[in-house]
Amino acid sequence: MQPAIAVRQLTKTYAEGNTGTVALRGVDLDVYAGELLMLMGPSGSGKTTLLSIMGCILTASSGSIWMAEKEITQLTEKQLPAIRLEHIGFVFQGFNLFPTLTAGENVELMFDLKGLAAKAAKKRAAELLDQVGLGGKCDTFPSDLSGGQKQRVAIARALAGDPGIILADEPTAALDSHTGKNVMEMMSELAHKRGRAVVIVTHDSRVLSFADRIVKIEDGAIAGPGSSLLEPVPAGMLAHNFSQPTVNLA
Ligand code: ADP
Ligand code: MG
Repeated sequence: MQPAIAVRQLTKTYAEGNTGTVALRGVDLDVYAGELLMLMGPSGSGKTTLLSIMGCILTASSGSIWMAEKEITQLTEKQLPAIRLEHIGFVFQGFNLFPTLTAGENVELMFDLKGLAAKAAKKRAAELLDQVGLGGKCDTFPSDLSGGQKQRVAIARALAGDPGIILADEPTAALDSHTGKNVMEMMSELAHKRGRAVVIVTHDSRVLSFADRIVKIEDGAIAGPGSSLLEPVPAGMLAHNFSQPTVNLA
């Protein structure tokens, strides 16, 4: 099975005056459709940086990422948003909802970006909110929603483009156990029932049981199991058959 995302020797250095902060120092990672992968690591280890580059929000310094038969690391900053809109659903750590828009409008926005007519966008947004259990909350503003409800609006928005890849940065960090579990059940369903590739950054040990695979990142590099596919990507990578690594977490 080909990976939905293949990351090879990815590096990122943030420029800061004369010096720079090296956030990623050669990351290799494959993520498959139908799996829920958890990316864990201490604060500052590069999790958000890696997820942002995979999500076409940030560009890498070197290395490559393949997705949807494209090497996205070869694309210009202008080309990235279109790829992102088509393939990626991103759930941010702090929800990132627009406070002046209702829950419905926050989701509708994505359909507008995709060029859907206003009426259809509204209908689809309502359907999606219904799917995440917020059917009655279309006209509610984020300030009147609980943390868990905001997170579910953010998930509905991430799903609006029907993306094959879902990336979530600490989606349960701000939630109580029960709500966190609900969010994880939703993520797990996306992977297992709808065949999405789901990557979740977390250091929430309460949700680890939802992982099909746990990959650890330390100081900008993948540590230990999970880094088992380390051959550099050959030019014809997409024709190759990678075997899916499994890590026994028991
Ligand atoms: P994590 O999500 O694991 O906490 P990050 O990816 O946010 O880690 O950060 C990795 C490293 O990069 C840290 O040393 C952090 O200080 C640095 N960093 C992150 N974002 C920026 C930025 N925009 N500018 C400069 N340095 C940054
Ligand atoms: Mg982070």
